[in-house]
Parts: sequence; structure tokens; C-alpha cells
Amino acid sequence: MTHHIPEGLPDRIRHYIDGAFVDSIGGETFDVLDPVSNETYVQAAAGQRADIDLAVAAARRAFTDGPWPKLLPRQRSRVLHRIADLVEASDARLAEFETFDTGLPITQALGQAQRAAENFRFFADLIVAQSDDTYKVPGRQVNYVNRKPIGVAGLITPWNTPFMLESWKLAPALATGNTVVLKPAEFTPLSASLWAAIFEEAGVPQGVFNLVNGLGEEAGDALVKHPDVPLISFTGESRTGQVIFANAAPFLKGLSMELGGKSPAVVFADADLESALDATVFGVFSLNGERCTAGSRILVERAIYDDFVEQYAERARNIVVGDPHDPATEVGALVHPEHYDKVMSYVEIGKGEGRLVAGGGRPEGLDRGNYVAPTVFADVAPDARIFQEEIFGPVVAITPFDSDEEALALANDTKYGLAAYIWTNDLKRAHNFSQAVEAGMVWLNSNNVRDLRTPFGGVKASGLGHEGGYRSIDFYTDQQAVHITL
Ligand code: NAD
Repeated sequence: MTHHIPEGLPDRIRHYIDGAFVDSIGGETFDVLDPVSNETYVQAAAGQRADIDLAVAAARRAFTDGPWPKLLPRQRSRVLHRIADLVEASDARLAEFETFDTGLPITQALGQAQRAAENFRFFADLIVAQSDDTYKVPGRQVNYVNRKPIGVAGLITPWNTPFMLESWKLAPALATGNTVVLKPAEFTPLSASLWAAIFEEAGVPQGVFNLVNGLGEEAGDALVKHPDVPLISFTGESRTGQVIFANAAPFLKGLSMELGGKSPAVVFADADLESALDATVFGVFSLNGERCTAGSRILVERAIYDDFVEQYAERARNIVVGDPHDPATEVGALVHPEHYDKVMSYVEIGKGEGRLVAGGGRPEGLDRGNYVAPTVFADVAPDARIFQEEIFGPVVAITPFDSDEEALALANDTKYGLAAYIWTNDLKRAHNFSQAVEAGMVWLNSNNVRDLRTPFGGVKASGLGHEGGYRSIDFYTDQQAVHITL
């Protein structure tokens, strides 16, 4: 198979601190692999505590002495809109990088720049429209709210759609006047290296944006434990979230955590079956199944169960797995051999827990690269590991139910609570089920489409706090009450 290697790859991935690309002080590096050849294509600087210290100091200076926090919202908004334009214009280049580094199908990597740009535009507009409360006690007092940026925000991000998820934190953190240190995921550092030039060209002042590459246990850990970083916004595994929560506790840091999921897609017998099939196939197999909100447990009402399973398996078998750069590809290569091994181990576990109806291993003809055939297990019991644990790959568990009550009990029977998808044409049931399901986000008869004004986040082990709309503004600012006696 041909393997597309983008032109103009950097010869080294460096940190970006105080307006300059730099190596780690001690020269430490780590290997970055591409998921098709699994060969090292570049070395990246491996940030240590000393590198984080430098980045935080630069961000701190830019916050205390620089213009950024003091700009009028309209002035920052203009810079953010310029960032959005530049990001949008880089779509093809970004998609090529993301596909090469993450293994995402090129057709799904295209458009990530639009989503990233939209995050900047949205918060650029929101800060201009922002109004804060004023209260009057007639004849006695006027009390108002003073909103202030907090300082240096530490942003720690995962490897699935890395650039877009970075933008989801960078945009509100910068819009509100904070300065930042970004620590991107070590599996996929390539696209993050594009930010520096974009921010420079858009006019972000020196020191406002800093990037430190490196391992979570080194660079990420140092950022979490740095006393001059009052905020940590983290997206990643629930287990890592617990570690960060504990490490941030002595400092009483502000934490926003977007964590793992095992989201149910519940299909009732009265649903529009074609739409439900299309959406539930897309919901777990798009983005290689490496999607936090994947509908990775499908609960199907008994009356349509056999028919659903048969049609679902048929569709899964027809999914085109292949070279991520090929526009015909629908599932590409998983991000890294370690992750591939994890997903494959669940495929093997699943063979003892459910009825394999599609996939179940490597697709034929793909001998190298992290390829996993879209895999469907039916008749999966709720105590199965493949029902309970996040696999984060193209693997789905299907389970029948007989009543609304049973569907709800099954939907809620995991430690996670990120998303839920409900397919029914019964209006009352749809709303009552949404109310009762333990999920931060519900999509009714709908694909996973985001509205940036709505809360984004999970309940239970899927997260802490919600971002989206004014909630992001709240997280990245302090609200001070000012009281005036008349
Ligand atoms: P991960 O938790 O392994 O790593 C995420 C980031 O945390 C990386 O940058 C990593 O280097 C860093 N990190 C690791 N250990 C750390 C530590 N001790 N201190 C500080 N930083 C540390 O997650 P991942 O494998 O990169 O991403 C996949 C996970 O992310 C899945 O569980 C997925 O569901 C979740 N995710 C959630 C959302 C959401 O919005 N809820 C979105 C995307 C991904």
C-alpha cells in the first residue's frame, strides 16, 4: 500500500516559549511515530519541569506586564477573528498533518480546521456580547459584578482530533484575557506546532501562548503542580483525571475535566430504523471510534433486535478500512501501537463475552499499521467488560431490552455519563428518557452535532464541570462582587 508522507514535515518538534521555538533545556526528546508505518518520523522535545518553569514564567510575565489581559474585549475579539481566518485557511494542510499523525481518515480530518476556527469565532463574539449583572437595592446600594481573567491557564489535551480539541480550550482561555501553557498529547504533537505561527501572524503578543511538548507524567505533571498555574483544563482519560485532581488539590486549582465515556445509543422499536442505523454506525466508527462521545453501547428494543443486529453487522462489514490518506477510507489506522494493542485486547475479551457478528481482528490485506476491522458484538450482558469499559476504538456492544425501565437501567449501568443517543418517535418517552438518563449531553433522533452555546461535559466519571457558551467564560474568569452604598 502507498503511504502518503506530507511535504515540509518539521525536522524536529520543539517547544514554543516566550515567542521562540526552543528545545528542552536538557536536550531530552521522545520519538513520534506515524500510525501507518509505526516508524519514528520525528523527534519531539520532551519537556521537563525546568521547561515548564520557563513557559509558566513567560506566560506569567505576559499576564502581569503585557497588554493582553487589559485589552478591551473588542480588541481581543479582532485578534481571535484573525486567528479563525488563518486556521480556516490552513484546512488542507492541517488535515494532511492530522491524518498523517493520528491515522484519521482524510475526509474526516478535513473540516477540523473549520470546527477549530468556529471555536475562536464563537468566543470572539461572546466576549463582545458579554454582560455582567448589576443589582440595585433602591436608596441603599448598587452591587455589580466585575469579571477578571485569572492568570496562566494550563491546557492539557488528548490525541483524538488534537488540533480541534486544543482550540476548544485555547479560544475561551485567550478570549477572556488569560495567558496559556498548552501541553498537547505526546502521541500526536505535529499539528500543535502550527499554532505558534498562526498566533504570531494574528497579533497575539509574545508570551501569551506557550507550548511545551512532552510526556504526561513529566511535562503534564509539572504543569499541574506548578504553583503559578491557577487553572487546569484537562481532556483525557478518567483515570488521568483522577491523578490530576489529586495533584491539583494542594493548590486548590480551578479544574475543568472532560473525561472518558461509554455512551449508550438507545433504539426503540418505533424509531426511524434507517436513520438510527446510519447514525449509530457513524456514531461509533467515525473518527476510528476514537471519539469521547462514541455511542459504543447500542441498546435495542427486542421487537426489532434481530433485524437491527443483522443490518448493523452488514453495514459494519461494508465499512472501508484503509490508508488514512485515501479519500475512500472510512476507518483509518489507530493512533499508536500501544493503543492498537489495547483495542485488540478488548476484541479478544469480547469474543468470550458476546456474539461476534462483524470484524474481530485485523482486516485482510492490511499487514502493517494499526488497523482494526469494525467489530460488532451482539447479545452483550451488562456485566461484560466490553459493556463497561471505554475501548476507544471501532468496537461496539449491542444489547437487547424489553421495556423502557430496562433500557434506562442498562443505559445508566456504567461509571460513565458523557453522552446518550435516543431513537424513538414517541415524544413523551423521548423527553422523559432524556430527563432520567445519566448523561451530560443527549441527542434525540440526532447525530452528534454540537451547538457551542450548550453545556459540554459529562457526569459521573465522565467529567467535572461543563464548558460551552458562558460556562467557559465563567471557568476562565473570576467574578468579583462590588458593593456600593448609596
Ligand atoms: P490521557 O489521559 O492518556 O492523556 C491526555 C493528556 O493528559 C495527554 O496530553 C497526556 O500527556 C496528559 N497526561 C497524562 N498523564 C498525566 C499526568 N499525570 N499529569 C498531567 N497530564 C497527564 O488520554 P488520551 O489517551 O490522550 O485521550 C483519550 C481519552 O480522552 C479517552 O478517555 C477519551 O474519552 C477522552 N476524551 C474526552 C473528551 C471529552 O470531551 N470528554 C474528548 C476527547 C477525549
